Amino acid sequence: SDLALIPMHASGTSGRAGVLVVGLNPYRLLDEGYRNFLSLVSGQISASIANGQAYDEERKRAEALAEIDRAKIQFFSNVSHEFRTPLTLMLGPVEGILRTGRDLPPDVLRQLEAVHRNSLRLLKLVNSLLDFSKIEAGRMEASFEPTNLSDLTGEIAGVFRAAIEKANLAFTVRCLPLADPVLVDRDMWEKIVLNLVSNAFKFTHEGVVEVELRPAGESVELVVADTGIGIPPEELPKMFNRFHRVQDSRGRTHEGTGIGLALVQELVKLHGGTIRVESVLNAGSRFTVSIPLMREEADARRPRNGARRTHRRS
Ligand code: ADP
Repeated sequence: SDLALIPMHASGTSGRAGVLVVGLNPYRLLDEGYRNFLSLVSGQISASIANGQAYDEERKRAEALAEIDRAKIQFFSNVSHEFRTPLTLMLGPVEGILRTGRDLPPDVLRQLEAVHRNSLRLLKLVNSLLDFSKIEAGRMEASFEPTNLSDLTGEIAGVFRAAIEKANLAFTVRCLPLADPVLVDRDMWEKIVLNLVSNAFKFTHEGVVEVELRPAGESVELVVADTGIGIPPEELPKMFNRFHRVQDSRGRTHEGTGIGLALVQELVKLHGGTIRVESVLNAGSRFTVSIPLMREEADARRPRNGARRTHRRS
């Protein structure tokens, strides 16, 4: 006979059993060596088929995941919009009452203040989610303006002075004058500074919160450091993951969703910059944001690291 039928075994989970049909060399004895050779050939072929199938399935899985991701982003973005309108409509009247209703009974005022505080919290969260979904959908458009970053940073940080000092912490803000205006999106920069300083405050029970802005070669660096509870070393690589929170961390409040730092990182990336964290447990943390200096004329039209230089805002 000149044909051999060799069973091909299913290999792995996705392999298919089949039969390999080969024409035999009539001048060669079908001995042990020949048989081995043929079964190796069949093994190779079934392995290649299995690889191909695995690759195909992997690709389909990746496509399915991307599709889910798109749906999720779309969902977040719709929902955040829908949450924001009624929230804004509730905040207005509450603020109105709080402004004019000083003669209300104290416990009513206290309750209204709680409503107000928590509505603001919810609004902040909804806004962060909205920012996030915009970033993910590539629809977050930065508007970069030449800015005295030293003054701006000092002003934003200054908002915290009263609260931090009231909690018996020292607060040092050192914003060194920079040679040139820096191109930043001011709203985004504000979110970056606010998030980092409010975290430093939240996780520090004694000592000092420090904010520093300084030139560093072709970049400008923002450092927000604290003498707070610190971050366990195994958590450090996960700090900028979305919704990641350190278990059992003893913050000033238990509020938090783990979205702040992830958002900060995205905003920094939109500036072509980087953020890193160093921390020692029970000693303190130091977040360093570094963004490249862009000279207005030469660089405004030349995006760096994928940062987009479009100037439209929604
Ligand atoms: P949130 O504060 O809403 O939980 P973040 O993304 O801002 O979200 O922070 C995530 C987690 O990182 C916090 O829950 C906290 O455990 C930890 N963290 C952030 N900043 C500090 C800090 N300065 N010191 C210690 N832990 C911090």
